[in-house]
Amino acid sequence: MAQFDYDLVVIGGGSGGVRAARIAARHGARVLLAEEKKLGGTCVNVGCVPKKLLVYASHYSEHFEDAAGFGWTVGASHFDWRALIMAKNAEIERLNDAYRRTLVEAGVEIVGARATLVDAHTVEVEGKRVRASTVLIAVGGWPVMPKIPGIEHAISSNETFFLERLPARVAIVGGGYIACEFAGIFHGMGSHVIQLYRGPLFLRGFDLDVRRHLAEEMRRKRIDLRFDVEIARIEKTGFGLHATLTTGDAIEVDEILYATGRAPHTKNLGLEAVGVALDEKGAIRVDEYSRTNVESVYAVGDVTDRINLTPVAIHEGHAFADTVFGKHPTKPDHAGVPAAVFSQPEIACVGLSEETARKRLGTVDVYRANFRAMKHTLSGRGERTLMKLVVERASDRVVGVHMVGENAAEIVQGLAVALKAGATKRDFDRTLGIHPTSAEEFVTMRTKAPEPAPAPERSAAE
Ligand SMILES: Cc1cc2nc3c(=O)[nH]c(=O)nc-3n(C[C@H](O)[C@H](O)[C@H](O)COP(=O)(O)OP(=O)(O)OC[C@H]3O[C@@H](n4cnc5c(N)ncnc54)[C@H](O)[C@@H]3O)c2cc1C
Repeated sequence: MAQFDYDLVVIGGGSGGVRAARIAARHGARVLLAEEKKLGGTCVNVGCVPKKLLVYASHYSEHFEDAAGFGWTVGASHFDWRALIMAKNAEIERLNDAYRRTLVEAGVEIVGARATLVDAHTVEVEGKRVRASTVLIAVGGWPVMPKIPGIEHAISSNETFFLERLPARVAIVGGGYIACEFAGIFHGMGSHVIQLYRGPLFLRGFDLDVRRHLAEEMRRKRIDLRFDVEIARIEKTGFGLHATLTTGDAIEVDEILYATGRAPHTKNLGLEAVGVALDEKGAIRVDEYSRTNVESVYAVGDVTDRINLTPVAIHEGHAFADTVFGKHPTKPDHAGVPAAVFSQPEIACVGLSEETARKRLGTVDVYRANFRAMKHTLSGRGERTLMKLVVERASDRVVGVHMVGENAAEIVQGLAVALKAGATKRDFDRTLGIHPTSAEEFVTMRTKAPEPAPAPERSAAE
């Protein structure tokens, strides 16, 4: 090891890189971590954390309205975007510091600069070359914006978190979870929201009932959802932004937010020179231990485009450190990863959608509950909750759990444990509910849903 300055150099101080650096150091490795922006990466600075804080803020408008049904008189309310953004920024600075402290306490050396790969063991940072026996690339992803005329007037999720003012009218382009979440955030804060998606229905890959249910509930809130449409061109006018749509219609808004996907952040990193293999999307190809085709170079997190979520990046980073420095080879486990969409109402799921289960497993039984939560009997809100279990008929194993409704993520997290443990429908049936909750529906569903109607035709863009 003496020929190397470090045992490990980590490029990228986000979810995956920070965990890998800390655990490797705990295993006794000499570790240098390079982060060009802020510690904590996407999740802490422009992802999960600020997003969830904005989601919390946006819920209050409905809480104030719902309070009347319970006897409360709430005075005139006013929302201050700048106050929220300042509070959010302060919390994120606190987290940046906490990340730094944790790394320093673990013995990790931190350099606040961009790093690039020079050869299989050499990294260049701040004009200096350092050599390491192992290099970990954990540089994450970056928003992709389409090349249409006027795109310079639009923003990505990165800029949204730092807007100077709340836009009165906003168009959100995209059909993924980030687009749906921002539609709910801006609507809750009082903006007029138009969400545009090029396919026939958003949230491709999620259960079809879930996708339809969310669309219905968002429309009930008067979010203007438009499918099978894109923006062709954007012009800045004296009144805001004028967007011409592919249908020939036009919309006038104050901001246009593109949430149309993220690409692995692999450009100009020196990967080509070293011969690290990428896939067609630019993601780093890795084996089941997160090792690239270059023996000393590993990669974890969004840059490998496996499952692009924070807990997965953390898990991959930890497994890498245990494998390389902990004498404990560990393959990250990508099965049964639960996920949420913090849309309004919220979605959470674990396991297979009904469509995938039918394709993969053949005969499945489906149990579905669609009801108005108790809270809304008095709030007067028409919102409905959807819960769904997908069961493999041959084994009775529950292979999919899906929910759209309040606290879906909190509820489904617990059920993810049951699925991981291989729970059967019988196990769900013999579990008593907690009453009165929405969650108890998951253990009281007894009636199989009829076989599904044929799925609608889908366009290639979906
Ligand atoms: C708006 C939004 C909301 C999200 N919400 C959720 C959610 O609710 N739940 C969830 O699980 N996931 C969510 N995600 C996804 C989650 O943020 C990512 O999956 C996670 O951050 C990936 O971690 P990572 O370590 O791979 O990369 P990142 O966290 O992106 O970290 C990569 C780091 O590398 C740094 N870097 C890049 N190149 C270099 C270089 N050459 N030298 C030095 N440093 C470099 C970057 O500055 C960055 O800090 C969200 C993402 C977005 C954009």
